[in-house]
Amino acid sequence: MPTPLSSHHAVYVGSFDPLTLGHVDIIRRGSIIFDRLTVGIGINPDKNPLFTPEERLSLTRSVLASLKNVEVRCFEGLTVEFIRQCGARVLLRGVRTLSDIETEFTMTLANRALDPEIDTLFLMASERYTHVSSTLIKQIAQLAVGSAAGKLNEFVPAEVIEPLLLKYNRHQYSK
Ligand code: ADP
Repeated sequence: MPTPLSSHHAVYVGSFDPLTLGHVDIIRRGSIIFDRLTVGIGINPDKNPLFTPEERLSLTRSVLASLKNVEVRCFEGLTVEFIRQCGARVLLRGVRTLSDIETEFTMTLANRALDPEIDTLFLMASERYTHVSSTLIKQIAQLAVGSAAGKLNEFVPAEVIEPLLLKYNRHQYSK
């Protein structure tokens, strides 16, 4: 007998390379709506991430430590299979732009074909984080100098700044 899936438990998946304030906003809001929220850090062999899965796991756990109904895990393979393993019925996603919606729409249809019992729920990004993406943050960390680098705290949690700059052999707010 397969384990029944809980509608009160959602899973939020992504690369989180690195975790941004946009992600944290979706996680906080999701943790209020659902009794339980699992953050799934996807390990994708086709991608070449800046942070190792272990680094992303430990950074994400430390940022989210105060959210008691949120757990963080890494996973490999299909998202719907991970969600089923978690015993959840809901896949939570965040959308920022119309182009996000287009991509998410295709992915949602594919996931539904793979596992019709799992449904996807979208939260609209908060206005202040609509422009925030992990890619943008990596560009800023790599290229920005002086006060622009100091603005990283508007995009990523404080815990992420130092490890992010170190990846590019830079030190906090170095000129
Ligand atoms: P992926 O590799 O799946 O694109 P990401 O780590 O970039 O993973 O994002 C995970 C989820 O968070 C996706 O649903 C994405 O649309 C959403 N997301 C990313 N950035 C933001 C943001 N600034 N505000 C709200 N949602 C976001």
